Amino acid sequence: ATPTAVMVATGEGATQGVLIKGGHALESAHKVHRMIFDKTGTLTIGKPVVVDAKLFKHMVLQSFYEIVAAAEANSEHPLARAIVDNAKSMRGESSDLTWLRKAENFKSIAGQGVYAEIDGKEVLVGNLQLMTASSINVPEEASEYLQDMEKQARTGILVAINREVYGALAVSDPVKPEAKAVVAILSSMGVQSLMVTGDNWGTANAIAREVGIEKVFAETRPQGKADIVKELQSTGKTIAMVGDGINDSPALVAADLGMAIGAGTDIAIEAADIVLMRNNLEDVVTAIHLSKKTFRRIR
Ligand code: ADP
Ligand code: MG
Repeated sequence: ATPTAVMVATGEGATQGVLIKGGHALESAHKVHRMIFDKTGTLTIGKPVVVDAKLFKHMVLQSFYEIVAAAEANSEHPLARAIVDNAKSMRGESSDLTWLRKAENFKSIAGQGVYAEIDGKEVLVGNLQLMTASSINVPEEASEYLQDMEKQARTGILVAINREVYGALAVSDPVKPEAKAVVAILSSMGVQSLMVTGDNWGTANAIAREVGIEKVFAETRPQGKADIVKELQSTGKTIAMVGDGINDSPALVAADLGMAIGAGTDIAIEAADIVLMRNNLEDVVTAIHLSKKTFRRIR
């Protein structure tokens, strides 16, 4: 394609919020064989809400919500926002956060959860791996709760206080309305869709089934997502990665074509070759069409 043709396509993309960072990015798009989608915030809306909670030890539920919210208040993860909003709405007060307890020594553990000290207590909020990695015993009741939630495509989150699992929360994050159609369109174009997520296998499989994706990688760490990209590339196929978060950045860089979706995370936007500003998965198809239109003529 001529530089002018690339410029025209780039300009056309920009009017639709598809920001293509140069000729190479544009050219890669029509060569893609396999498209890997991140789950949370990419295939799903990314605005999860707390839909259930369960206590395994005696505690006032509102205190439980508030301790968990205090631990999550410094996290940028969509799950953290859901947990803070839940505590807020359970108080039924105005939107200020003056009630929020102080968190000390906050630590975010990528792909697993958070740690903080609240009122002198050690609080861990996150998935099963987080508890296992911290050698915290997870009672039967708690693991059953997680499995039960996963079957319903919900993400179960465990809460340990002073190294004891006190309770759990369940968060639901619905799939984007266009997700299923986009997977079908890609398939008709000869592009296979895959899903990768740090979330657990149960929830991951339930979401994949909903959107029509057969190949799933779950419980992956951020670097693990990049390793999956590299492994798929080793078969000589052109691999695209679509993601929204900091945790997707290594995979976006590793992919032949990295696409950041949504205007959320700066790091993902920086790591990507194409940025889909509208947060609509249909723009993945738009990017491929623009590429085809531009490069078809010269082949
Ligand atoms: P995804 O790959 O689906 O975008 P992440 O890799 O960010 O998800 O997170 C993977 C899992 O780690 C989440 O499903 C959750 O169980 C746990 N997790 C991550 N961050 C948090 C947090 N701030 N609070 C609770 N759990 C978290
Ligand atoms: Mg994500």
